[in-house]
Amino acid sequence: MLQFKLVLLGDSSVGKSSIVHRFVKDTFDELRESTIGAAFLSQSIKIKDPNSEEDVVIKFEIWDTAGQERYKSLAPMYYRNANAALVVYDVTEADSLVKAQAWVNELKQKVGDENLVIHLVGNKVDLVEEEPSKRVITVEEATKYAADENLLFKEVSAKTGLNIKEVFQTIGEKLYEIK
Ligand code: GDP
Repeated sequence: MLQFKLVLLGDSSVGKSSIVHRFVKDTFDELRESTIGAAFLSQSIKIKDPNSEEDVVIKFEIWDTAGQERYKSLAPMYYRNANAALVVYDVTEADSLVKAQAWVNELKQKVGDENLVIHLVGNKVDLVEEEPSKRVITVEEATKYAADENLLFKEVSAKTGLNIKEVFQTIGEKLYEIK
């Protein structure tokens, strides 16, 4: 079985733990306690080998890091040997995209993007579907940034589950392609 290490990065409260829990357990909890340091979970998915059309099982070892400033110095320990990074912002918080961009810069500087698949996600899109005026980061702005930086990008909702499986599927396929 193929195993890949994936790290979640992003400001605190953007929904990193909620995304992992939606993906691994298919649940959402409004009152989840914040992550201290880092938490580890694993989950397998099936992808299709594009040549043979056969199913391939990929196991993700997922490291969910705490976004708080005081844990920032721990992050290199988690991203150093990572195969993929999921960099998360909140579509209703302007500053969270700035923080996400800082993580992308740090990853590119310290790890390089030849061997690391970086996927940007804009979370909490359910809030703007309910109330469009809550949106502060547009799809266009994030799409352009992701294209300029050569990142994968999707808007998601850990609450409704929108695009969560798709994001991990895309990362898995990309990792398999470049393995
Ligand atoms: P983390 O600090 O980045 O791990 O963020 P959490 O996963 O702890 O989530 C922070 C807060 O945002 C919690 O109150 C979650 O319930 C809430 N949250 C997370 N994802 C979503 C989402 O997709 N939609 C909405 N409406 N709230 C979310």
